[in-house]
Amino acid sequence: MNQGSDHLDRVIDLLSKMPGVGKKSAQRMAYRILELPNEYAFELSESIRALKEKLRYCSRCFNFSSAELCLLCADTRRDPSLLCVVEDASSIKNIERSARYLGLYHVLQGVLSPMHGIGPKELRYDELLDRVAQGSYDEVILALNPTVEGEATASFLAESLKLRNVKVTRIATGIPMGGSLDYCDDVTMASAMDNRRPMN
Ligand SMILES: [Zn+2]
Repeated sequence: MNQGSDHLDRVIDLLSKMPGVGKKSAQRMAYRILELPNEYAFELSESIRALKEKLRYCSRCFNFSSAELCLLCADTRRDPSLLCVVEDASSIKNIERSARYLGLYHVLQGVLSPMHGIGPKELRYDELLDRVAQGSYDEVILALNPTVEGEATASFLAESLKLRNVKVTRIATGIPMGGSLDYCDDVTMASAMDNRRPMN
């Protein structure tokens, strides 16, 4: 094995740690980086470095931020009566893309998982309760992923927030838009049926 392939293997190995990227995709990416101009590769590595060096957690919502408060918390046009709880910061990007929600967020930084030793203390749970106690929220929307752990966490949060005099809702789950009932798994089908809404 020559030295060149050592470098290549290292990049492939590092890239393959990314979610959804297997060895083969990592290999294609690494070769693509080699083909692209130097500037691209240097900007890529620099931007990743800046990401780690410049970003920290927003002190209010625990989204990533380059300042004490993230851009969303600092934006006075956001509706301060709505609070949307998400599992991780990347969920915020997805919800923002929908342009359907104009309230504030709270990043839980995970979900309860007793099997992996993750309890409320490992999450931004106390911070959530403090925010709800101190804020004037009309509604807390639980937008956790529809997994077994996400569902259990949503139930736990709903129970915890019961006494706080705030309406708690859960985002709907079900058949994806453009999807077909033929390809729908049993759990999704059951959830779609449970979450049906009136039409008249
Ligand atoms: Zn924030």
